[in-house]
Amino acid sequence: MSAPSSPASQASEAYDVVIVGAGFAGMYMLHRLRGLGLSARVFEQGGGVGGTWYWNRYPGARCDVESMQYSYSFSDELQQEWDWSERYAPQPEILKYANHVADRFDLRRDIQFETRVDRAEFDERSSTWSVTTSDGKTVSASFVVLATGCLSNARKPDIKGLDIFKGPVYHTSNWPHEPIDFTGLRVGIIGTGSSGIQSVPVIAEQAKHLTVFQRTPNYSIPARNAPLTPAERKTFRDNYPAIRHFARWEARNGIYTELPDRGALDDGDNERRAKYEARWARGGLTFMSVYNNLGLDKTANDTAAGFVREKIGETVRDPATAKALQPTTYPIGTKRICIDTDYFETFNRPNVSLVDIKTNPIEEITANAVRVAGHDHEVDALVLATGFDAMTGSVARIDIRGRGGKTLNQKWAEGPKTYLGLMSAGFPNLFIITGPGSPSVLSNMIVSIEQHVDWIADCLVYMREQGLATMEADVDAEEKWVAHVNDVAHGTLYPQANSWYMGANIPGKPRIFMPYIGGVGVYRQICNDIAAKGYEGFVMGRAEQPRRAAAS
Ligand code: NAP
Repeated sequence: MSAPSSPASQASEAYDVVIVGAGFAGMYMLHRLRGLGLSARVFEQGGGVGGTWYWNRYPGARCDVESMQYSYSFSDELQQEWDWSERYAPQPEILKYANHVADRFDLRRDIQFETRVDRAEFDERSSTWSVTTSDGKTVSASFVVLATGCLSNARKPDIKGLDIFKGPVYHTSNWPHEPIDFTGLRVGIIGTGSSGIQSVPVIAEQAKHLTVFQRTPNYSIPARNAPLTPAERKTFRDNYPAIRHFARWEARNGIYTELPDRGALDDGDNERRAKYEARWARGGLTFMSVYNNLGLDKTANDTAAGFVREKIGETVRDPATAKALQPTTYPIGTKRICIDTDYFETFNRPNVSLVDIKTNPIEEITANAVRVAGHDHEVDALVLATGFDAMTGSVARIDIRGRGGKTLNQKWAEGPKTYLGLMSAGFPNLFIITGPGSPSVLSNMIVSIEQHVDWIADCLVYMREQGLATMEADVDAEEKWVAHVNDVAHGTLYPQANSWYMGANIPGKPRIFMPYIGGVGVYRQICNDIAAKGYEGFVMGRAEQPRRAAAS
């Protein structure tokens, strides 16, 4: 495989691979490609590496997967040398880690920062992509890898008057780089997902008054964050091979923990309560893996949901506020569960109030207030914690044109269609890392990123060895995979919630459960089996003559 010499476009530079995004996916992809002797260029719209951790700088931002697990596994030296300071790393530390990785593996020389990819067009005659960037340049590449992240296209709500508000308006996912001081200010925050739930307690400590505008209450489990001791780090480091193996193959979500051996209704009331109490005391995402049927059986789920509602009721002193904070309209876990530090406790502060905007939606925003049910809640600054156009949003912002000039947006108008979440038929040599149709956001992202990057790298080696120039998802294989992803999702409780997994947070977005819920181990096995069968379900070809990959 060599860089094409005469691309169809006016491209001045040619690469084997163009990577879009220098987050954790793009950085590792670049590292692997270099190891294969391939030329690669990364375009990154931010001013530095880190992706989501570059942008999401809001107060209280930290990862909800434990830091010893939310880290690359591809280099043992790296995982042995990096000292995480806390059980859940704060955003600045994760960003520091991303920068450390970029320096350690000398990645920056192939990354062009502050450059958006605006357009990517496949030329069928030369089997190359022309990639046009925001600096007006076009380069060509044999392959394009979209490492654009699943949660990177911020959702700004269409609320009347937002543009006439006189004070500053911040979005959690595009937070200024300089510190924001809310001291003495009346702050309003709209949105109570993970970002809102993490930032509310921190902003409340600074602000004169914080008004939380809540549309849907969320289930949240205490993080129980704490400094990591040298002994805890050592235990992880000594056991990394087994821990990483477990995360890849045994844990459905790529997180190392004990696996449940029974369903919630297999235990009596006292035993079940004791287990929930123990997980609540331990804190973190593993609350949901105490039983093996919480995502499958509504009656089982109700026991966990009821437990969390009780905890909210015990924590929040004002009964009306407590009631408003208790989720009742969807099963626990079917919207991304949140992990917090003192979120519910914060509503006991005299300077914090909750406004339910489900029953009475925000009417409008004025120059200095948020109007709900005819009442003006005066604020000096607004924080939008309103989420993302998830999984497809960042891809949709690029004008991607495949065979016959068809755009990916046209193809995905009814919802994203991929084979394995890795490729989409009609778009040859275009890979997506953690795309819709793969476990991605339902897993520890770094586990899924590494799996996709390694699979793509192995695939490129195979193509080089076999003298193949093009690869693309077969339409039938893609249809079957899309149906399978849908079937598996509908065997669970997940589609019962209006979640961003379903695209439900974006008006007009098709309601399709986007990630693959079969579990990371099952999915990895499927991907490996497909590769072992000569990339079954993909159409591969030499430059002139496409052929169907060998079927089993
Ligand atoms: P989100 O979960 O989508 O939450 C957005 C919030 O804004 C919801 O409460 C939503 O209400 C509300 N909202 C949206 N549009 C609104 C409107 N027009 N009017 C009023 N309210 C509106 O977004 P997020 O909190 O940024 O989190 C997204 C995902 O990012 C998480 O689920 C997680 O996967 C990831 N994340 C992870 C971490 C972490 O690792 N700790 C931290 C932050 C984010 P409805 O629920 O009613 O739509």
